[in-house]
Amino acid sequence: MKKSDRQLGMDRDITRRDFVHDLSLASLGLTLSAGVLVEACTGNPESPGTYYPPTRTGMRGSHPGSFEAAHALAREGKRFPDPVDLDEQYDLVVVGGGISGLAVAHYYRKQFGADSRILILENHDDFGGHAKRNEFHQGGQMRLSWGGTMNLEYPMFSDTVNALLGELGVDIDELLKGSEFEYGSGPKGSPSIFFDAETYGRNELIHGFSFRAGCGDNVESMIDRFPISEESRESLKTFYARRDNVFKGKSEAEVSKILSGISYTGFLKKYGGLSDEAVNLFIKTTHGYAGVGADSLSAAECIDASLPIMHLLGYSELSGSGDDNAGGSVAMFPDGNASIARLLVHALIPAVAPGSNATNIAMARFDYSRLDEATNPVRLRLESTVVNVANRDGGTSVSYVNHDRVLRVKSRHAVLACYHTIIPHLCPDMPSEQKEAQAYQVKRPLILTNVLLRDSKAFDKLDISGAYCPGRLHGAVWQVKGVNTAGYHHDWEDAGPVPIMFWGSVAPPDASVPARVQHRASRAMLLAMTFEDFEREVRTVLDGMLSSAGFDVQKDILAITVNRWPHGYSYDYLDLWDPEWPEGQAPHEIARRPFGNIAIANADAGANAYTHVAIDEAWRAVLDLNC
Ligand SMILES: Cc1cc2nc3c(=O)[nH]c(=O)nc-3n(C[C@H](O)[C@H](O)[C@H](O)COP(=O)(O)OP(=O)(O)OC[C@H]3O[C@@H](n4cnc5c(N)ncnc54)[C@H](O)[C@@H]3O)c2cc1C
Repeated sequence: MKKSDRQLGMDRDITRRDFVHDLSLASLGLTLSAGVLVEACTGNPESPGTYYPPTRTGMRGSHPGSFEAAHALAREGKRFPDPVDLDEQYDLVVVGGGISGLAVAHYYRKQFGADSRILILENHDDFGGHAKRNEFHQGGQMRLSWGGTMNLEYPMFSDTVNALLGELGVDIDELLKGSEFEYGSGPKGSPSIFFDAETYGRNELIHGFSFRAGCGDNVESMIDRFPISEESRESLKTFYARRDNVFKGKSEAEVSKILSGISYTGFLKKYGGLSDEAVNLFIKTTHGYAGVGADSLSAAECIDASLPIMHLLGYSELSGSGDDNAGGSVAMFPDGNASIARLLVHALIPAVAPGSNATNIAMARFDYSRLDEATNPVRLRLESTVVNVANRDGGTSVSYVNHDRVLRVKSRHAVLACYHTIIPHLCPDMPSEQKEAQAYQVKRPLILTNVLLRDSKAFDKLDISGAYCPGRLHGAVWQVKGVNTAGYHHDWEDAGPVPIMFWGSVAPPDASVPARVQHRASRAMLLAMTFEDFEREVRTVLDGMLSSAGFDVQKDILAITVNRWPHGYSYDYLDLWDPEWPEGQAPHEIARRPFGNIAIANADAGANAYTHVAIDEAWRAVLDLNC
């Protein structure tokens, strides 16, 4: 049943070479898992001598070389003594070049003057943090995809966020007009479910079915094709056919209490009458959307996730419409919120891409050699992991590791726009209560693997834009097409090279423990996975799902970019696992208090993963700084 690596084409077409960062880290005495880089497909514009990370393939996201110094500091207690003092003095040093850190630099210039000298230190080889651009080139065409953050969740924007996006020239209406991507239920192709042979005994693609939306009149015949037991199929058919109110006679408050006190899967079992086997099919529907399984979310939280529940609460609808992975029209750039990061960097350092603006930013080729020039008031330094931040002499001192060197700069202010969990190690002198509060934040691991296919013919023949895969590592697979914004065009009608995005998280070995414990276990599993593990996984899924439509797994895969995010979504508090804290006493509120000349930003400071929260927290952090 299981295909060999050779049959899957693991030895074909894509070549590998060792990742270049190994050498510099070895000299620091840091260990590095064997990283591999898949050479980009034809026409990769990162030619020797140029530095252009968006086209890098292989293991990206938290790539080898980006996290070892921080892990050595936090996990092994490694110290970085005797830093070399650089002859550089700043008004502000920002730790972290994600959207929050970039927004901090933008706001600081507004508050403290446009000529403020600012240094942004970022541990990855690219800026943007989760807002990561994946750029492929094939046959003279550029194909873009999201390496992380995708949507602008504009209905939730504060005035602060709207004002910033306005300054950057972002027009949400224009983005909406140009976006036809709808997470598997777009204009071309129906949502579908892929049952894989390794998990379910045979490969079965159920065209037109969505766990969220059901499938109208055909629900029974579709469920009849599910490769699960007869009992489970029957329980699903009954579930989708029901329209009743399981809480008839109870008050709204009573219903709300029940729904926020039971897991979604518990609800499906207890009130939906589903078998265990049927319930398990739903678990990964929330992996990408929430970074956690539907077994760890409350039923109330899964109403927000548009999972079927309403039809058992007295409504005729199952849920909001959509597919199994969020859904609905969205405001997007073709490289996701990497365009926001790029617009911010362009505003701070115009020389990186002269002439760029929000209407053409997706096509801009950034000149990375301009990021860190002494003549520019704002400098962005990549591959620089901060290991110490201290209040000193009315200002701050910041030490960081850049390749094999430990360096130190001085500044008037510092803003930590990095993960909260690293802050106690960067600032050991902070009050214990604050450090404990920072440690409460355990980001949710996520994976976003992009696979460039030679063409989309097999998807088109099957008339699917993607599929939900309940038995696989990545719960969702989609064609990335139809985001025609910011100067970029890739129409649904174009059957040429196409990025396929695999999205999901790593299921923890034990989902009965608190979510934060699950996330730590999933993170360890994610970091232990090699590039070959991901390659084998995506080849297996594409072969099983598409080979009946002419897809050749040995020839049709051109490039693979794994964006692994062991520290993904910021942890937001969950009904089932977190208490309610009094106003001002929630961990994130204690964690983000200013400390001398040091303030704290990042989405973690809002206990909420979204891009707009990262921006709101940047503004608050700048206001926290003393003049
Ligand atoms: C896969 C994925 C999909 C997402 N999709 C969406 C979406 O569709 N919509 C949405 O609104 N949000 C989404 N998010 C949430 C996303 O996290 C936020 O949108 C936002 O990008 C967070 O920005 P940030 O700057 O706070 O954090 P980050 O993006 O994490 O940036 C912080 C940066 O600081 C760096 N850093 C950490 N420690 C150090 C150190 N010691 N020295 C130097 N640098 C350091 C980090 O490596 C990182 O680059 C998604 C997140 C992920 C992972």
